[in-house]
Order: sequence, then C-alpha cells, then structure tokens
Amino acid sequence: MEQKEDKSGFLKVVCKNCGNTQVVFNRSATVVRCLVCDTVLVEPTGGKARIKAEIKRAF
Ligand SMILES: [Zn+2]
Repeated sequence: MEQKEDKSGFLKVVCKNCGNTQVVFNRSATVVRCLVCDTVLVEPTGGKARIKAEIKRAF
C-alpha cells in the first residue's frame, strides 16, 4: 500500500541564517541543526517534522 501524501523522504534545505545547504529527513525524530551556524532547521512534531529552513528540493 502506497501513501501518496505525507510521504517520508529527504529534503534539501537552505539555512535562512547562513545560506548553508543541507540534506535533512522530513520525518526526523530529533532536532536537526545547521552544521555551520547551529540554527534549528528541523523540529520534530511527532509526525511530519516542521521544516524551519527554505526547502530547495524534495527527493
Ligand atoms: Zn546556518
């Protein structure tokens, strides 16, 4: 069975603070921080994570 919406996967995001590009998991269970400036990029919500950076591409 395939779930069309709310699919888990990876996102390429750009940090709003420093412009660093990073790949994150969209259902991350932990906070993901920018590797360069330590800004929070992904916040876990229990389901789909809240992305706090600019999403460039989903794949
Ligand atoms: Zn950053």
